[in-house]
Amino acid sequence: MAQEDVFKKLVSHCKEYGFVFPSSEIYDGLGAVYDYGQNGVELKNNIKQYWWQSMVLLHENIVGLDSAIFMHPTIWKASGHVDAFNDPLIDNRDSKKRYRADVLIEEQIAKYEDKINKEVAKAAKKYGDAFNEAEFRATNARVLEHQAKRDALHERYSKAMNATDLNELRQIILDEEIVCPISGTKNWTEVRQFNLMFSTEMGSTADGAMKVYLRPETAQGIFVNYLNVQKTGRMKIPFGIAQIGKAFRNEIVARQFIFRMREFEQMEMQFFVKPGTELEWFQKWKETRLKWHKALGFGDDHYRYHDHEKLAHYANAATDIEFLMPFGFKEVEGIHSRTNFDLSQHEKFSGKNIKYFDTEINESYTPYVIETSIGVDRMFLSIMSAAYTEEKLENGETRVVLKLPAALAPVKLAVMPLVKKDGLPEKAREIMNNLKFHFNCQYDEKDSIGKRYRRQDAIGTPYCITVDHQTLEDNCVTLRNRDTMQQERVAIDQLDNLIAGKVSITSLLKTLQ
Ligand code: ATP
Repeated sequence: MAQEDVFKKLVSHCKEYGFVFPSSEIYDGLGAVYDYGQNGVELKNNIKQYWWQSMVLLHENIVGLDSAIFMHPTIWKASGHVDAFNDPLIDNRDSKKRYRADVLIEEQIAKYEDKINKEVAKAAKKYGDAFNEAEFRATNARVLEHQAKRDALHERYSKAMNATDLNELRQIILDEEIVCPISGTKNWTEVRQFNLMFSTEMGSTADGAMKVYLRPETAQGIFVNYLNVQKTGRMKIPFGIAQIGKAFRNEIVARQFIFRMREFEQMEMQFFVKPGTELEWFQKWKETRLKWHKALGFGDDHYRYHDHEKLAHYANAATDIEFLMPFGFKEVEGIHSRTNFDLSQHEKFSGKNIKYFDTEINESYTPYVIETSIGVDRMFLSIMSAAYTEEKLENGETRVVLKLPAALAPVKLAVMPLVKKDGLPEKAREIMNNLKFHFNCQYDEKDSIGKRYRRQDAIGTPYCITVDHQTLEDNCVTLRNRDTMQQERVAIDQLDNLIAGKVSITSLLKTLQ
């Protein structure tokens, strides 16, 4: 199946099975805003729990925080967001569609890369085992031609972005003959800067109202509280503060479902270290975070690092963890070495001393910061896209199954009486009433067993149990495994032990140690 079709199916699956709904749907929706349904909210909460516990439970020197969404507006001046949190936008005059100029150029770079990959794939097929990819890439005339064009474009683009040269960005779009995908024309406007922050007014009178922003990242709430936490928690450097919360960005081009939203959720951890040790910690967090992703078991080939060539002026190292989505490798998490930029800026703008006093060396300094920043919604999308599977069965039917990691699945166990009579529903309810204290169970007695299994497969429930007439005699049930579809007879009093160990977040966390 083409990857585009997989993505379309995934989007409709998310809606059909109560994972994600377009916001305000009965009013025709609101651009790039989504609601999470009954299964989506469970999956999302499990992702957050997995992250939170891996940070706060597994690290003695990391604590949590929940700062407000509204913050003093000067914070965003200090952080640079008021002046520089911009995207370059360009409009096509014919289609009246708006695009990010940088994204149009990056897509053009990706096209050259695609051409190269196609040449390589063609040659690999032709030469079979004898194919030497490295040699082919270094010598094939067509590959070299595409590579030279790609590199030249990349260099020109990086220069223009670094210098915020909007005219040059437009000129690149014209020179590369990039057309609008809707109108197919090159009738472009000038490139303009567009600030991504949403603002509103705080206060009741027009005169006394103050312009405030909806935070575009959760990190600043951590920076302005770092000394409160350090002092009240008697934290010693190195230490971290973790936070999960909503962030808002007025994205110009909101596409690809929940990949790019205007209201989304972030899980951020700022790790405060002694100046000079930051690159060591950066490396450590890079590895720790990739391990966290890989523990989900989707396969190591789904992940890669993308080190930033263009660093923000305050960063001295940055990398993204990219995940193979149906539309290619995409950023899911950013890991940044942010130096002491943010804390120094807040010191300057607030006029307050927020230095850390290091008792070991009897000296005060402004700590350096390593940040790990991941979007809950993007993580959700990556998990759903890797888990969505269509399987051909022996009887010729197709089953749709979400192969979610058991610890993240919304429902862990479905409890089903074989028939709706003879005391089987009562027995099934009795089992469920015992197990519901341990994990999320769902009772289902409607339709045939086969249909009920399919419904659970479609929401990723790792286990189903069926209560039949035999159960009333031997106190055993049939336990069915989602992935293998194998069934085994299990004593009711062993269910808790058997299942809890496999579906708990704790079991997943233990693989990280
Ligand atoms: P992008 O380049 O895709 O716009 P970014 O580099 O601006 O992302 P960061 O500011 O580093 O992203 O934010 C950290 C994380 O927050 C990202 O890795 C992503 O998972 C998430 N995120 C950022 N913007 C959005 C958005 N509009 N919708 C959903 N998640 C987002």
